[in-house]
Amino acid sequence: MSERRPGAAPNETTRRALLGGTLLGTTGLLLGGTALARTPPTTREPDIASTDAWGARPPRNELVLLSRPARKIIVHHTATPNSTDHSRAHAFELARSIQDHHMDHNGWTDTGQHFTLSRGGHITEGRHHSLAAFRDGGRHVVSAHTSGQNRLAVGIENEGTYDNVAFPSTQYDELVGLCSALCTAYAIEPYEIYGHRDFNATGCPGDRLYALLGQLRTDVAASVGGDPTGVSWPLLRSGDEDERVRVLQYLLNEHGATLTTDGIYGPATEGAVRDFQRSTGAIVDGLAGNQTWNQAVRERTYGDSGPAVRAVQHRLGTTVDGVFGPVTESAVRTFQSERGLRGNGVVDARTWDELVG
Ligand SMILES: [Zn+2]
Repeated sequence: MSERRPGAAPNETTRRALLGGTLLGTTGLLLGGTALARTPPTTREPDIASTDAWGARPPRNELVLLSRPARKIIVHHTATPNSTDHSRAHAFELARSIQDHHMDHNGWTDTGQHFTLSRGGHITEGRHHSLAAFRDGGRHVVSAHTSGQNRLAVGIENEGTYDNVAFPSTQYDELVGLCSALCTAYAIEPYEIYGHRDFNATGCPGDRLYALLGQLRTDVAASVGGDPTGVSWPLLRSGDEDERVRVLQYLLNEHGATLTTDGIYGPATEGAVRDFQRSTGAIVDGLAGNQTWNQAVRERTYGDSGPAVRAVQHRLGTTVDGVFGPVTESAVRTFQSERGLRGNGVVDARTWDELVG
């Protein structure tokens, strides 16, 4: 379930502010009645009931659709009762009750997540336009399921509470199918499948479902190809002093900090980590671990610029000018092939993982 506490509330207000700004022209567009579906995914599309099918209310405000694909998938549980009603009618009722809760209790524009998977294995579209964006493959509906990740990640809510209860096999099989189709449509690597607790201070998606995510990545890779090995980050703390700290400092600067990139995890770096954790809904402990890295790394590719690109260049030993040009791209490709990665020149989570060391 999406976070309720204020520190982790998705940034709906911030996103709405984009609607009136000139940013819209380059980063997103308003959806009217435009049909989006153009490029069907190459895998079998799971049976997904649209918002029309289950009788969704219209969104309170217009939604933001980004003209770029989602880059990762985040798995949740709804933290609702483990219903024994496996009917389609129940799945539709669940979809309506979640939308009511998100709009009336949380005050959100629409359902927070993109898709909901019932314990009976029925998939419903959550936020409006999610299905069309997925079928398009090049678009992503800004959502409200994981603080700090709503512009990047597809959110899947799984009905139930899986702290102590096993995840049903029917639901699991449908989750594999949905993730496989999403990975194909958006060209997402299986290692970019995460649980909500990888980003925010939450127990979601429950210990039992979270423990299945390695298997999920493996099964998705078996279905559609790609690398299922989950990323793993170092745990850095005050007093540390090395190149990993320097990468962290560059990444924090990418998110608005103004640190000296000296590789020393002193009071300024610890303070910046805490500020960043607070702003992204992560556990605020001043330690740079799984949540902090997952929130801080951003996919970087040809044409990008800024502190994160400087981190890449520093680690690769190329000129550190903060501009991802042909020399940097070539160095990234070489680095990737040396590390046995797909040499596509894009610095994604797996390549960041190797760069951090
Ligand atoms: Zn969640």
